[in-house]
Amino acid sequence: MKVLKFGGTSVGSAARIKHVADLICRERRNVVVLSAMSGTTNSLVEIAEYLYKGNVPGAQEVLNTLERKYESVVDELMSTDDGRRKASSAIDRVFALLRSFLSETLSEAGEKEILAQGELMSTALMQCFLEERGMRSVLLPALDYMRTLENGEPDMQHISVRLKRMLDLEPEADLFITQGYICRNDHGGIDNLKRGGSDYTASIIGAVLDVDEIQIWTDIDGMHNNDPRFVDGTRPVERLHFEEAAELAYFGAKILHPSCVLPAKLHNIPVRLLNTMQPEAAGTVIYNFAPDGSLKAVAAKDNITAIKIKSGRMLLAYGFLHKVFETFEKHRTSIDMMATSEVGVSVSIDDDSRLAAIVDDLKHFGTVIVDRNMVIICVVGDLEWQSCHFQAKVLDALSGIPVRMISYGGSNYNISVLVRKQDKIKALKALSDKLF
Ligand code: ASP
Ligand code: MG
Repeated sequence: MKVLKFGGTSVGSAARIKHVADLICRERRNVVVLSAMSGTTNSLVEIAEYLYKGNVPGAQEVLNTLERKYESVVDELMSTDDGRRKASSAIDRVFALLRSFLSETLSEAGEKEILAQGELMSTALMQCFLEERGMRSVLLPALDYMRTLENGEPDMQHISVRLKRMLDLEPEADLFITQGYICRNDHGGIDNLKRGGSDYTASIIGAVLDVDEIQIWTDIDGMHNNDPRFVDGTRPVERLHFEEAAELAYFGAKILHPSCVLPAKLHNIPVRLLNTMQPEAAGTVIYNFAPDGSLKAVAAKDNITAIKIKSGRMLLAYGFLHKVFETFEKHRTSIDMMATSEVGVSVSIDDDSRLAAIVDDLKHFGTVIVDRNMVIICVVGDLEWQSCHFQAKVLDALSGIPVRMISYGGSNYNISVLVRKQDKIKALKALSDKLF
């Protein structure tokens, strides 16, 4: 058994839904997790925002536009009168429910219910379409099994028992369809797993059912070994360790959030990234692979600010770093890269909204120097310190480029350097030439 998750763009139109239907009908008894059609969750968020502000006409307008969109999707998707009637009545029920909120003061529970409608509609449409095609597909309502605990974590025991029972009741089913993102909270109220939560749903289901593979289908063919916008000849990375994928997530490889794949990682289930537009391509598999000593990818993150704090007082003193970190904590700013010497420390941040206040406070402890418009370039791979090839290769590739900071040793999976914005593309290309 496998779990196949399709994101909003993959089910973003009637044509796309039909295409996904082709893909999921190729094998039997898999669980298919769907996001809301692209743009829908944003519209639902907007409706809730208008209602919170008491702007009913605003909410109504977004709602009407959304409804027209779904009407035309139903028209294009379904080909029999009976199918069209079924799909329309599912969509009508949702919009009747959404309209009922127009005359109320919105509560948090109401907002959660509004946000849940996108996934309820995409799965209802898919189910109607598969039925029309004669598939024995069964809809598994996520609200009947997906539940979180008081601390917001998934209630794995409950999910496992419920979901397995639901599958056992359907021995003849060819296929199971379920909603990503939505769940019930510990009070039994409708809730969700936060934006982008469908990946989390897929990972949780994969873990409790101990599936062979979790497939995340998007419109990108896996994770590339460098940024294709700046470097020619990049290719998808075949295999990544979960830790390597987590390092890359920071660099805009937004297809997977590390916390979303945690259940898969802990249960040793491979996660494969696949492209709906190129279904035969191998994509990228993420797994707890044994170390293989290989360099996997280069990635960059823009708009980084470097801050250096130097102080003679740091020499042989303790507590200096504590004061520096406390300053960042006070200003709720997270530090990404860091390099220290005996008399100074450099850190990088990507959120500079509190920079002036941070610098002001840091001046109590030493001389502060700020460099803006910097870029973190990160090399990801199996970088055990005992294997002595990679540091030299990375620095050799960057020999013509001024490097502001170097960081390695925080993990065995990345080595990062900080360079100026104007050197970014040159650095990316040089690293690709040298490493791959
Ligand atoms: N529909 C939700 C969102 O847009 C969940 C998801 O797509 O993963 O955030
Ligand atoms: Mg998504």
